[in-house]
Amino acid sequence: MHTLKDKKIHLETYGCTFNFTDTEKIVSLAQKNRCTIVKPGEAEAVVINTCTVVAQTERAMLRAIADYPDKEIYVTGCMPVVQPDLIYNVRPDARLIMPEELNSCSDIIGALVDDAIGVVQTARGCVNRCAYCITRNARGHLRSFPEDKIIHEIERLVSLGAIEIQLTGQDLSAYGLDTGSSLAALLRRINSMEGNFMVRVGMMNPSTVIPQLEELTDAFTGDKIFSFAHLPVQSGSDKVLSDMNRGYNSGDFRDVVAGFREKDPEIRISTDFIAGYPTETGEDFLETLALFEETRPTKVNITRFSVREGTDAASLKDIPDWIKKERSRTLTIAANRLYDSVNEGFIGKEIDVIVTERKRAGSSIARDKSYNNIVIKEELDTGNRCRVKIVSHRRHYLIGERI
Ligand code: SF4
Repeated sequence: MHTLKDKKIHLETYGCTFNFTDTEKIVSLAQKNRCTIVKPGEAEAVVINTCTVVAQTERAMLRAIADYPDKEIYVTGCMPVVQPDLIYNVRPDARLIMPEELNSCSDIIGALVDDAIGVVQTARGCVNRCAYCITRNARGHLRSFPEDKIIHEIERLVSLGAIEIQLTGQDLSAYGLDTGSSLAALLRRINSMEGNFMVRVGMMNPSTVIPQLEELTDAFTGDKIFSFAHLPVQSGSDKVLSDMNRGYNSGDFRDVVAGFREKDPEIRISTDFIAGYPTETGEDFLETLALFEETRPTKVNITRFSVREGTDAASLKDIPDWIKKERSRTLTIAANRLYDSVNEGFIGKEIDVIVTERKRAGSSIARDKSYNNIVIKEELDTGNRCRVKIVSHRRHYLIGERI
């Protein structure tokens, strides 16, 4: 970081919302060092904030690093921690900025990533050790930020115009396990804050949700919290979940989903599946499909397993790509079928929404309490709260008319 002085720099950020806040740290430190942020063509140096969660992303990072042969290159994010050799293979002169170095220079935990969308880190690291996960190796053990710091950061971003606050971290429901606080306690405090904003809670590992299910599902009913629970389950097979060292079984996941729905039947459940984990058999995959059909999550992220260096799963014999492709395609078809039928059920419904984004001329993006994505064909101010009638839909969003 110390050599990033008096330069014109171009920044590229990849990966999770967490990374976008780290980029904010780089921007503030670089500006303190009399650097200016410019377009790639004008830059003397380029900073790449990397993600390496899956092999496909790793390849994209190495291409991005190779894209600027005539410029100084700085690399930060997860890759310098776990795969410095891959970076040096592409650019032996690359300068690595370790996330810990950034954290020691800047205590920024939030950023405005869009006109009215703010991201706030709640913690760094994680308490789990999932067998396939390289992120844990890059971000280390859990360090939660104090509640007051998070609350102040939300106030700061709201004062800058944020309407939607995205709480981010490797495992949100592990928040406070190292400090005596908890995600439920944090959400209760946020629920009692003043201001016209709402909070989207990031991904929660079911294993850290279970001990606080009652409290957490209560806190999600608060007016300030979107009823949107992102609970990556990864597989429907108890054998595979045990091989992944996920810390829960499919029955636990059913109980967690039922717990959230009991408190709020309208809550939206989002989940993740890994297709083609090395120990996954055809029968295991059928259990995953069955769990999907039974729990009906209306937002699904499907990833094909890829070997991550330095993880326990890296020593397992990989499954042929065509099987992974077939299983992820089967899951995608099932998910799309569900999205279409659930969205069709919204036609004619009247819903209260809050406008969170202005993407295109002539339209606005709004969210209801269940974080459904609703396009309104009017230019409305962000923060505007109104009632809409759903008149049609596309696969990933609803179309509403203001009443
Ligand atoms: S919960 Fe598991 S997958 Fe998520 S960051 Fe932690 S170790 Fe990785």
